[in-house]
Amino acid sequence: MSKTNIKKIDIIVPCYNEGDNIDIFFCEVEKVVSDIGGYDFGYIFIDDGSTDDTLEKIKALACGKMDDVESGDVHYISFSRNFGKEAAMYAGLKAAGDRRTDYAVIIDADLQHPPQLIKDMIRITEETGCDSCAARRVTRKGEPRIRSVFARAFYKIMNRYSDIEIIDGAVDFRLMNSKMIKAIVSMPENQRFSKGIFAWVGFHTEWIEFENVKRLSGESKWSVWSLTKYAIAGFLDFAASPLKAVGVFGGITSVGAAIYLIIEILKTLIMGIDVPGYASIICLILFFGGLITAVLSIMGEYIGRMYMETKGRPIYIEKESDLDD
Ligand code: UDP
Ligand code: MG
Repeated sequence: MSKTNIKKIDIIVPCYNEGDNIDIFFCEVEKVVSDIGGYDFGYIFIDDGSTDDTLEKIKALACGKMDDVESGDVHYISFSRNFGKEAAMYAGLKAAGDRRTDYAVIIDADLQHPPQLIKDMIRITEETGCDSCAARRVTRKGEPRIRSVFARAFYKIMNRYSDIEIIDGAVDFRLMNSKMIKAIVSMPENQRFSKGIFAWVGFHTEWIEFENVKRLSGESKWSVWSLTKYAIAGFLDFAASPLKAVGVFGGITSVGAAIYLIIEILKTLIMGIDVPGYASIICLILFFGGLITAVLSIMGEYIGRMYMETKGRPIYIEKESDLDD
C-alpha cells in the first residue's frame, strides 16, 4: 500500500488524575493498534488540570521515553485547571481536526473502554461506510445501583422530552470521521453535553456493544450529585419542553381559576354575599405563589445558561502543549 493510502487515526484520551493508569493504558492500546495495518496511529492526551503525575507521564510518552516501548506519534495538551471531560474531549477533537486526521477515537484512560474494540470500530466503519462507530454498554455490573437507576431514568426523560435521541448505555468511546469531527468542533457552546452533541450533529452511526468493565485504578470522578447536575444541564441544553410544560400548566390553572370565578359570581348573584372562606383563599395564594416561583426558577435556569453562554468564554485554557510548535 502506498503511503498516501494510509489513513491517520488520532486517539484522544481525556485524563484527570490518571497517573497510575497512563502507562498501562498506553501499552494496552499499543498492543491493539500495532496489529492493525493500513493506518497511522497518533495519540492526543489531554491533561485536564491533574494534580498528580499525569502530565509527567504523558510528557514522557510524548518524548518517546517509556521503557521498552517506542511511543511514536504522541502529543499532549495540558489545561490550566480542571475544565471537565467535555472540555478535554473538545480540545482533543479540535487538535485532531487541525492535524487533518482521517479518524479520531475518543477513549477513557482507565481502561473502562476496552481498547480491542478500536479494531472492530475501524472494521465496521470501513465495511459499512458509516461516519461514526460508537460503543454502548449493555450491562452496568460493578456500578453503584443508584447510579444505574438515575441513568435509566435520565435516558427515558431525555428521549421523550428533548429534541434528540440518546441510545441507552451510550458512552463517549467512539470513532468518527473528519466530517463529524468538523461538525462537532464547529459547535461553539461553552456548556457542552457531548452525548447530546454527537446525536444532534447527525451522521450515520453504527453501534457496538460491550460489557461494563471496572476502572483500572483510582475512583470515578463522578459523584451522584455531580452526575445529577450534569444530567439536568444536558437535558436543558437539548430541550425547551420544560418551558412549554409550564406554559401549558399555567394555561390550565388560568382556565380553572376563570371557571371558579364565574361560579363564585353566579353564587353571589343568586345567594348573596357569602362569608369569605379564609382557608380556601390561603390555599389559592400558596398554590399560585408556589406555581409562579416554580415557573420563574425554570425560566431562571435557562436565562442563567444563556448568561453564561453570552460571555463567550473559551471552553478551556491551555497551559502547555507540544502541538503548538
Ligand atoms: N476525566 C477528565 N476530566 C474530568 C473527569 C474525568 O478528563 O474532570 C477523564 C478521566 O480521566 C477518564 C474519563 O474522563 O479518562 C472518564 O472519567 P471517569 O472514569 O471518572 O468517569 P466514569 O467512567 O465513572 O464515567
Ligand atoms: Mg471511568
